[in-house]
Amino acid sequence: MTVPTITLNSGHDIPQLGFGVFLVDPDETERIVSDALEVGYRHIDTAAIYKNEEGVGRAIAKSGIPREELFITTKLWNADQGTESAHAAIDRSLEKLGLDYVDLYLIHWPVPSKDRYVESWQALQQIQADGKTRSTGVSNFTVAHLQRLLAETDAVPAVNQIELHPAFQQRELVQFGRDHGIHPEAWGPLGQGKYPLFEAQAVANAASAHGVSPAQVVIRWHLDRGHIVFPKSNSRERMQQNFEVFDIELTQDELEALDALEADKRVGGHPDEVE
Ligand code: NAD
Repeated sequence: MTVPTITLNSGHDIPQLGFGVFLVDPDETERIVSDALEVGYRHIDTAAIYKNEEGVGRAIAKSGIPREELFITTKLWNADQGTESAHAAIDRSLEKLGLDYVDLYLIHWPVPSKDRYVESWQALQQIQADGKTRSTGVSNFTVAHLQRLLAETDAVPAVNQIELHPAFQQRELVQFGRDHGIHPEAWGPLGQGKYPLFEAQAVANAASAHGVSPAQVVIRWHLDRGHIVFPKSNSRERMQQNFEVFDIELTQDELEALDALEADKRVGGHPDEVE
């Protein structure tokens, strides 16, 4: 199965479908990521704060998959924002992952109360120049935070990883990013199981029309809407299911019915408040 790729503004390609490891128990991460790699995922999304980079690294090492076939993202945690602390943080992450470089390094949250995200963004540019990441981006940035980066630095984030699912589509923020070459990455793409997306009529109807699961319909919608997406599951069966979405063809009416599920339902924290 070939996963489509998207070329980021850095010139590097990212597989549009990946596997996320938020809340994956560090003791189980090696097994779970090994399963994901066996299923066929080549893009793994982790973060320093997930405390499971070592397990991701062990699964990568054991897999024998050539490094250039993998796309690995990790993130700078809030407490590590700042110039020296960001440089120390990427070195710790690389050591835990057992890698010389990551493919994408993100500022995890803006934390405007600390006002260090512009400085941290500049540190990420140096980290990229040092060859420790191929691309740099941000996560949970609002239009106001992005505007500051664009006004005060020369570097444009390759991605903005934000909460994104049919009930919370952040259309204005996604469009602002697209206008500036910042690609949307969807976290919580299935609503983290906290929002009853799978019971929505539009999802259930499309699932029964195509003989697939509600999760597959929602993932397919993300892909059709151009989002980079990395659903998480501890179960190999669901990983497999979430990967088998490339033969599903949703109709325009079905896609628009999912668009109409927009309900301004945020399930995670607000970017101005998470510290
Ligand atoms: P998600 O929307 O992927 O939901 C995960 C939940 O959906 C789990 O409870 C899982 O059991 C369930 N699920 C998965 N596949 C299913 C299927 N086929 N059928 C039924 N249920 C299924 O939520 P997430 O894990 O929070 O988001 C995905 C990834 O995004 C994370 O793993 C992480 O890498 C990233 N993330 C980033 C941030 C950020 O601040 N940048 C925040 C949260 C998550």
